[in-house]
Amino acid sequence: MFSQKLEKLTTYEAGKPIELVVREYGIKPKDIIKLASNENPYGCSKKVQEEVSKIVDQMSVYPDDSMYELKEALSKKFSVNDKNIIIGAGSDQVLEFAIHAVEPKKVLMANTTFAMYEIYAKHIGAEILKTESNFHNLDEFREKLSDNPDIIFLCLPNNPVGECLDWNDVEKFIQEVDENVLIIIDGAYQEYASFKNSNKKIEPKDILKYKNILYTGTFSKAYGLGGMRVGYGIANEYIISNLYKLRPPFNITTLSLKASIVALSDEEFVNESIKNNFIEMKRYEEFCKEKNLKYIESYTNFITIFVEDSTKLSDKLLKKGIIVRNLAGYKMNAIRITIGTTKQNDKVFEILKEMV
Ligand SMILES: *Cc1c(COP(=O)(O)O)cnc(C)c1O
Repeated sequence: MFSQKLEKLTTYEAGKPIELVVREYGIKPKDIIKLASNENPYGCSKKVQEEVSKIVDQMSVYPDDSMYELKEALSKKFSVNDKNIIIGAGSDQVLEFAIHAVEPKKVLMANTTFAMYEIYAKHIGAEILKTESNFHNLDEFREKLSDNPDIIFLCLPNNPVGECLDWNDVEKFIQEVDENVLIIIDGAYQEYASFKNSNKKIEPKDILKYKNILYTGTFSKAYGLGGMRVGYGIANEYIISNLYKLRPPFNITTLSLKASIVALSDEEFVNESIKNNFIEMKRYEEFCKEKNLKYIESYTNFITIFVEDSTKLSDKLLKKGIIVRNLAGYKMNAIRITIGTTKQNDKVFEILKEMV
């Protein structure tokens, strides 16, 4: 009944949800620390909760499909036109639109990067080209251009390793790529990277002049709205109008639209979250130095730490109620830990101390 392509695919496993740990290990939900999906440990803005709770009586009515208010807020924030914006159910959905719009034969990405690029590309039977390095090495990307990729993914900063290229270097690379190759810049963690180092900052308005660049961003990480599923793509009108052809109507719920609009208006919450993130990140770095563990300098809200046996260690942590991401699936003997609150991190250090 199903296509050969589909039969060969495997199902994506997201980070273990809390409910699963409750069931499998009998640990109380309040004792579980989930640091596996790079969610904002401070939750979301209180204003978002207030405003969303005021409109729960609107569930029977379809949302505003033009998404006027959210696009208006985003276009103000990024100094772009509303015609340069498409909203997705998570930026994941925008990535999916892009893949289906191009129907690439070949896609190029870093060896270790966001898993969904490969999954979406395989849905349509594309060949996956990867550089050797786990980091974005633009010289390796240049070498691979001769293999004629139709889409190039740049994850800036890169999940799950946390590294990030400088915008200057990215822009030089862009200018060397054929205009018919779509370059997707995934900025899911841009808020963190640009806070830490302004050389990493990408201004979506700067990419509009290129015919072939799509920038994606999300409310799931710094804005703390992972559960609401809102992301966006920014590009020139030609790209956006074509992606729009693939968008199902009403792809964002009324409550999610409201949540993201209010979230954008509370920059203070986001800035505070990011500031705390890097204060707590320092503690992880110091912990690693103390314990002689190698780690990757991170421009995001997680840190990747090399360990002796990442599968064993993440299982042991899980039994103690701490959920982290094991990177063995990426052929890296490392764990990725989302930076939690001070209290959560205290607990992680306390338990990790005995294990490494
Ligand atoms: C989390 C994440 C996304 C997408 O998140 P959505 O919740 O779908 O917006 C995209 N890219 C990277 C690298 C991510 O880590």
